[in-house]
Amino acid sequence: MAKKTIKEKLSWNLDEILKAKDFEKLYKEIEKEMGQIEGWVKKLKPEMKEETFRGIMDFEEELGKKITRLEYMPYLWEQVDQKNQEAKKLKGRADDLGVRLAQKSRVISHWLIGKEMEGLKRLDDKNAKRLFATIPDLEYGLNYDRTAAKYTLKKDEEDIISHKDVNGANQLINLREIIETEFEFDLKIKGKKTKKIRTLSELLSLVHSPKKTERKAAYRAMLFKYWQNIDKFFLVYSAIVKDWDYEAKLRGYKSPITVRNFGNHVPDEAVETLLKVCRNNREIFQNYFKYKAKRLGMKRLERWDIYAPLEKKTKKINFEEAKELVLETFENFLPKFAKLAKRIFEDQHVDSHPSSVKRSGAFCATVMPEISPYIMLNHDNQMRDVFTMAHELGHGIHSLYAAHHRMGSQHANLPLSETASTFGEMVLFERIFSAEQNIDIKRSMLSEKMADSFASILRQNYFVIFEKRAHEAIQKGITAEELSEMWLSTLKEQFGNSVKIDKIFKYEWCVIPHIVNSPFYCYAYNFGELLSFALFARYKKEGKSFIAKIEKILAAGGSEDPDKILKKVGVDMRSEKFWQGSFEIIKEWQKELENLG
Ligand SMILES: [Zn+2]
Repeated sequence: MAKKTIKEKLSWNLDEILKAKDFEKLYKEIEKEMGQIEGWVKKLKPEMKEETFRGIMDFEEELGKKITRLEYMPYLWEQVDQKNQEAKKLKGRADDLGVRLAQKSRVISHWLIGKEMEGLKRLDDKNAKRLFATIPDLEYGLNYDRTAAKYTLKKDEEDIISHKDVNGANQLINLREIIETEFEFDLKIKGKKTKKIRTLSELLSLVHSPKKTERKAAYRAMLFKYWQNIDKFFLVYSAIVKDWDYEAKLRGYKSPITVRNFGNHVPDEAVETLLKVCRNNREIFQNYFKYKAKRLGMKRLERWDIYAPLEKKTKKINFEEAKELVLETFENFLPKFAKLAKRIFEDQHVDSHPSSVKRSGAFCATVMPEISPYIMLNHDNQMRDVFTMAHELGHGIHSLYAAHHRMGSQHANLPLSETASTFGEMVLFERIFSAEQNIDIKRSMLSEKMADSFASILRQNYFVIFEKRAHEAIQKGITAEELSEMWLSTLKEQFGNSVKIDKIFKYEWCVIPHIVNSPFYCYAYNFGELLSFALFARYKKEGKSFIAKIEKILAAGGSEDPDKILKKVGVDMRSEKFWQGSFEIIKEWQKELENLG
């Protein structure tokens, strides 16, 4: 990292959340107020007045905001200064108090979802409906939690499950990680001496290398290790699958994937439609790989070539230029977007550049409605960083649109959470792309967009398709080799004849931690992105008049059922036609790419 100071470097001002000197004072205040919880618990009666109920919820919200301030200040501080001992100390103390508070107020949350609690009369459905309706902002969330409670078991059973999870499935996940971290990869690049590589990320950085020998060697070194340990990975995976499926059945979920869908606030049919439409559009990406082969002067790509760079030319862009470009783009799209984004900058809630003590990556943290969100970036003058800025600011804009809600309903649920962020990236892409005159840069921009879309859309989709097949097969009984063959056949389906796949890729399924650690998680990536693409396609078709609908979606935050929010603007997540809209955009990119020659 360059030592010289960067002129435009921005740092967070966390004072708005909490000044470090006020930490102790707030800590004591919360501790004291926790003493009032028992008093509120005594008031928990199904027949209670609406006014009393609102009183309880307001008390919870206010206390919730205080603990959020206490926890967020050191948490964010540590993100940008990972070695800071003071931040660590405060974070530890805040987290401990947070756990104590959660334990104490669990009586209230359990009572609300209809659990039998000692010394309290159970809250029946009718009264729950009556009370929840008095706070429209929280009504959806509270009712959803009650529905979720229908999938919970008796207290003793839940206790046994959580103990078995801690010492069973969770330990298997840890074991898998231990096996993995002990790996030492033998990188054999043709014509060079074998090199020992210690980490997977170091190895994987080579798959983007312009040299085929390096890409191939990296994949071979990686997959060889996994193949050597295939029996262990298979044992871990099949045990986790059996555990997950058994529990899903025990709790009364319709299918193993429903567990995940329910947690994501997405109807089963919407996920099934997504998986299907995505699969039906695999040819767009296959065409991209065929195009890429031509550009790289190959007859056909091999699996190790798919992330090979097309051009070496890239553009640099410093933070000030990037900021100006993003704000200007937002201004053209919708002045309110620019206004809200500016506010985040003016509030000093952007941390801009990398440093040796700062964590990597980027995120947007929504703390609470009255504080504008905090955005962490690691701007490194790459074109990619400008898109990240637009993406994270998009998240921030979304939060600000929904800032009139209560803390519990400001944040959008999964299907809609990427709406503004993806929109931000899309309008920026269109602007930069159309302004660019250099054909080589244009080509490389589009090619990168296609490769990124492949990785975040089709590849993720096929992870989940594989998982569905794997869960079924494991229930019936299957060997490690058969499961690996199954993975290979999903790869062949995915790539068609556009890419030649070496047999060693059979074992690639063990490399992907999400498949093992969080079953069916991966569709979250393509769901959020494609949903926003589809909305963007509607915007392109209907023009400015569709923007008001987007604003409606953003302003809803998490206060309503995502399905309902979308239906209000005339969108049905279960409709194939709706999802197809997203692929029309990707098809357009591919067409442009081919036009560039
Ligand atoms: Zn995002």
